[in-house]
Amino acid sequence: MLSAAGQERLKNATVLITRVGGMGGPAAMMLTMAGVGRLIIAHGGKMISADLNRQVLGCESALGKPRAAEFGDYLRTMNRFVEVEAIPHEPDDSEAAELARRSDVIISCPPTFEERLRLNRAAVQAGIPFIDAAQWGMTGTLIVVQPGQTACLECLYPDAPPFEEFFPVLGAISSATGSLAALEAIKILSGSGKPLWGQMLTYDGYQGNVTKIKLNRRETCACCAGV
Ligand SMILES: [Zn+2]
Repeated sequence: MLSAAGQERLKNATVLITRVGGMGGPAAMMLTMAGVGRLIIAHGGKMISADLNRQVLGCESALGKPRAAEFGDYLRTMNRFVEVEAIPHEPDDSEAAELARRSDVIISCPPTFEERLRLNRAAVQAGIPFIDAAQWGMTGTLIVVQPGQTACLECLYPDAPPFEEFFPVLGAISSATGSLAALEAIKILSGSGKPLWGQMLTYDGYQGNVTKIKLNRRETCACCAGV
């Protein structure tokens, strides 16, 4: 568990999470409950009925309302000591860079590679740890990046794969993956445990298997080769 000094480090930290739906929502909850000092959440759009199978920060009464404000309000009810800044859209390149400069860790939970790669670039440029969480159906994956030390997301995906607009989402998998992303952030910020630096953890929920693979840096990576 966390030492008093580790808990204090967590309290003095700022974490950026985009987006805060099925994965980022549980990640935000776990960091709020753990006592992170400041959370910046970013998520555009309004709550729709189809979100309710996974978006734990939403509820029936939030339907039709802007997600970011609703999600921010909910998080504030969970821990009065946590400061929550809610941004009602997904950041573009310059905003992502600005947010990274005032964050200590980024947790990336968007469905599109374009956004994930943008957040990875912002983290690498700012020199802060980057945690990428993703899911598809019954599988969840985590990648933890230490800029300049480990492979980054762009080392793995130099080009964004095509976006699949409709993909299967199971709340039990997305919430488990988001919680594990929060755990990586808590370990990094508090100095407890061994973060999954430079590795991809995959949870195959269909088979119940967990695998970890070490990721190699790409010498020609356009994002991190010079870092
Ligand atoms: Zn790279």
